[in-house]
Amino acid sequence: MATPVQLQFSAPKKGMPPTHLADMTDDQVREAVTGLGLPGFRANQIARQYYGRLAADPRSMTDLPEATRDSVREALFPQLMTPVNEISCDGGETRKTLWRLHDGTLLESVLMRYPDRATLCISSQAGCGMACPFCATGQGGLDRNLSVGEIVEQVRTAAADMRDGRVEGGEGRLTNIVFMGMGEPLANYKRVLTAIRRITAPAPEGFGISQRNVTVSTVGLAPAIRKLADEEMSVRLAVSLHCPDDELRDELVPVNNRWSVTEVLDAAAYYAEKSGRRVSIEYALIRDMNDQPWRADLLGKRLKRALGSKVHVNVIPLNPTPGSKCDAAPKPVQDEFVRRVNAQGVPCTVRDTRGQEIAAACGQLAAEERGA
Ligand code: SAH
Repeated sequence: MATPVQLQFSAPKKGMPPTHLADMTDDQVREAVTGLGLPGFRANQIARQYYGRLAADPRSMTDLPEATRDSVREALFPQLMTPVNEISCDGGETRKTLWRLHDGTLLESVLMRYPDRATLCISSQAGCGMACPFCATGQGGLDRNLSVGEIVEQVRTAAADMRDGRVEGGEGRLTNIVFMGMGEPLANYKRVLTAIRRITAPAPEGFGISQRNVTVSTVGLAPAIRKLADEEMSVRLAVSLHCPDDELRDELVPVNNRWSVTEVLDAAAYYAEKSGRRVSIEYALIRDMNDQPWRADLLGKRLKRALGSKVHVNVIPLNPTPGSKCDAAPKPVQDEFVRRVNAQGVPCTVRDTRGQEIAAACGQLAAEERGA
């Protein structure tokens, strides 16, 4: 079957930001530091400040000689992103930040605080090349990949805000990361993986967030899912299935034309087997599109067959994007859908939908800012 829309698997190289400490290996940091005429041990000290103390401005690094702080700043800490808009809801416990990157592209991250955890939803690309018709980001196409620094900085700023009590609810800790913002993380594989290693390495090599608390969400790039499984990490995999049959999924998730439902579920099963973790299946429920009782039955059957007990379905009520004809399924239809999937022996729950009123669905804030 011909691919109905143009998918973009590779991003233009132009526009990538200047190199930041978080883009560098430990050896590269050491080289940069000695290049500035400083002794090598300063490299360690600076990395400890950044990953351990979440500091990114050498002017506040009092253990560095004052005369060196400006040159360290210039060499290792270019300003990668500036907040241009921040909106909150849920009594301040959900906060969405829109950032402008050095080349003017826009990027979003959302922080959601719960009684027992705080989850940051981060972006892996500026825009997205996967063209899913119900998703705001998918409509704008792919601008470029984010650098490791741009991914890691989203996490560092939120972790510092939590620690310093700048989020409603007092001082706390950032505990969970989900790659469910803009972009297809597995299409920016190498940088996303390097970022995950930095996010999860114990301080002072990284931020020390548990791999088990990091979720990578993908449209289903089957070979990349297998590759991720072979990394032998314990991050959670979420697959945006949204449909159990190829005919409709070809339309809803156009990359399905390349890797079918069967191929995606086989890759997900491989991931479950290698990681020992349950795979999350994301299902945005869209009125009169993918919400039929027979599709719920088929979804449950196929998941049971492919993944056994190593699966959980998250139903997400569709968050309508401006200009789209897609809408959420009515509540009784949703309830029946969930009931039927559960009846097949596959645990299925409705995803908490925080942030609807702040346009927190994928890409919506950036779309508003661009005047779309
Ligand atoms: N590209 C990755 C991650 C980003 S999107 C992926 O597709 O998994 C994170 C999740 O939000 C995906 O499941 C995506 O399909 C879903 N999503 C996108 N737009 C949505 C909308 N308008 N309403 C509900 N869910 C949406």
